[in-house]
Amino acid sequence: MRFTDLGLSEPILHALGDCGYDEPTPIQEKSIPIVAAGHDLIASAQTGTGKTAAFTLAIIDDIGTRPSGKGDTPLVLILTPTRELAQQIDENIREYGKYVNTRSVVVVGGVSSAQQINKIRQGVDFVVATPGRLIDLVEQRELDLRDVEFFILDEADRMLDMGFVHDVRRISDWVPRPRQTLLFSATMTSQVASLASTVQTNAQTVSVAPPATVADNIDQRVMYVDKADKPELLLDLLRHDDTEHTLVFTGTRVAAAMVTRHLEVNGVKASAIHSDKSQSQRQRALEAFTKGKIKVLVATDIVARGIDVDGISHVINYELPDDAENYIHRIGR
Ligand code: AMP
Repeated sequence: MRFTDLGLSEPILHALGDCGYDEPTPIQEKSIPIVAAGHDLIASAQTGTGKTAAFTLAIIDDIGTRPSGKGDTPLVLILTPTRELAQQIDENIREYGKYVNTRSVVVVGGVSSAQQINKIRQGVDFVVATPGRLIDLVEQRELDLRDVEFFILDEADRMLDMGFVHDVRRISDWVPRPRQTLLFSATMTSQVASLASTVQTNAQTVSVAPPATVADNIDQRVMYVDKADKPELLLDLLRHDDTEHTLVFTGTRVAAAMVTRHLEVNGVKASAIHSDKSQSQRQRALEAFTKGKIKVLVATDIVARGIDVDGISHVINYELPDDAENYIHRIGR
C-alpha cells in the first residue's frame, strides 16, 4: 500500500515525501482510514511503529485544508505522559503539516508557562500537552477547550502508570462531545480498557506487533558451551565478571530451581522466581534482590513479565528463549 491509497491530500503527501517516507507502516495503514472516517480508535502500538503519523496525518489533513478561517482556540488536544514525547509529537506535526500552515503549541511542565501562554494567544490548532500543565492553564483560563474536536491519548498505559488517571479523566470531561477520541497504548491492560470505555464511543480496534529492536545501550555476548559445563560457566561469570544485579533466565521452573540450588550450594546468594512460588514469596525475592541482599534472581519468562527492577547489570540467558520477542523482552529489563 502507498500513502496515496490512504486518501491523503497533496500537501500532506508532499511533506511525507520530504520526510523520506516511502510507504505507510502497518499501524498507519490500519489507523489512517479509521481516523479519516471519523471513528474513535483504540490502537495498540509502541513507539517506533510510526504511531505519531498514524494519529496525526488524517487530522492535519482535515484541519489544514479547511476552507473557512480557523479560530483562536485549539481543535486538537493530544495528551502524552512526558515532555520529551510532547516535543517529539509537536515536531512531527510541524513536519507533516508544513504545507498547510498548522499551528501547534507544546504545553508541558518544568518550564515557564509565559511563552506557552503567549503562543496560545496568537492562535492555535494543535495543543500537545502533559496533563499537569494543561490543567493549570485551563484553570487559569489561559486555555479554552470548548472547540476541541479531536482528543488523543498517546501512550495511555504509561500515563496510567505515572498516576495520571484522575487528571486524564478530568481533562476528558472538559473536552466537549461529540468528539473523535483516539487512544494509543503499547499494552492493553484492563485499566487502559476501563479508561477507553469512559472516554470513547464505539471505538474501532487495531493492533500491530512491536518492532523487534533492542535498546542500543545493551551489550550482547554469546558463549558457546557444552550443556554439562553450563553450571560451572555460570558460577565463573558470577564470581569473576563485574556482575552486580543479575537476572538468569531458564526455560522451565525445574531448571530455575536447579540453577538456584547450584548457586546457593556454591556460595552465591540467589533466589528463584517462577510460577510455583506464591505471590508473597516472589515479592520477598524481588525485594531482597532490589535491596542487594541477593545478587542473582533466577526466573522463567512467564513470571519475568512482571519484574521491573532498576539497576540490573547483567541478564544471562542460561537457556535460550523460544522466540525473538521473548529474547528482547528478557534483555530489555
Ligand atoms: P513513532 O512510532 O511515531 O515514534 O515513529 C518512529 C519513527 O519512524 C520516527 O522517526 C518517524 O519519523 C519514522 N516514521 C514514521 N512513519 C514512517 C514511514 N511511513 N516511513 C518511514 N519512517 C517513518
